[in-house]
Amino acid sequence: MSFEDLNLNPAITKAVQDAGYTTPTPIQQQAIPELIAGHDVMACAQTGTGKTAAFMLPALHLLATPAQVRSRGPRVLVLTPTRELALQVSEAAKKYGKYLPRINVVSILGGMPYPLQNKLLSQPVDILVATPGRLIDHIQRGRIDFSRLQMMVLDEADRMLDMGFIEDVETIAAAAPARTDPVARSPARRRSAPYWPPPPRATA
Ligand code: AMP
Repeated sequence: MSFEDLNLNPAITKAVQDAGYTTPTPIQQQAIPELIAGHDVMACAQTGTGKTAAFMLPALHLLATPAQVRSRGPRVLVLTPTRELALQVSEAAKKYGKYLPRINVVSILGGMPYPLQNKLLSQPVDILVATPGRLIDHIQRGRIDFSRLQMMVLDEADRMLDMGFIEDVETIAAAAPARTDPVARSPARRRSAPYWPPPPRATA
C-alpha cells in the first residue's frame, strides 16, 4: 500500500513525501481509512511505529474541508498526558499540514503563562493540543468554544488514566459536542483505555 492509496488530501500526501515516508506503517494503514470514514478507533502499537501520523493525517484531511459551524473554536482536540508529548504532536501537525492553507495549531499546556494562552485562544484555532488540567482551567473560565469540534484524540490514553486524569478527561468530553469523533491511542504493553463522548460512550 502507498500513501496515495489512502486517498488523503494531496497537500497532506505531499507533506508526507517531503518527510521522506514512502509507505504507511501498519498502524497507519489500518487506522487512517477508518478515521477518514468517521469511525471511532482505538489503536495500540509500540513507540516509534508512526502513531502520531496515524491520527494526525486524517485530522488534517478533515480540516481540508470547510467547517460546518461558524466559530473560532478548535475543530480537532488532542489531549496528551505530558507537555513533551503535546509539543511533539504540535510539531507533527505543523509538519504534515504545511501545504494546507491556514492550519492554526495551538498548544495549551500547564506551566505556561495564562495571558499568552488567552491570546492564542482568542484567535481561530484549528488544532488544539492540550494537557487536561490546564485545558479544564480554560474551559471553566469560558475561554474554549467547542461548538465546531469534530474530532477528539486521547494520545497515550492509558498513561493519562495512570496519571489520574480520568475525571479531567470526562469533564472535557462532557464539554465537547456529542458527535465529536473520538480516537484513543496508546503504546503497546500498556493497558489501553477507549473513551467516547456520548453517544456512543464507553470507558474501559
Ligand atoms: P511516532 O510513533 O508517531 O512517535 O513516530 C515515530 C517516527 O516515525 C517519527 O519520527 C515519524 O517521523 C516517523 N514516521 C511516521 N510515519 C512514518 C512512515 N510512514 N514511514 C517512515 N517513518 C514514519
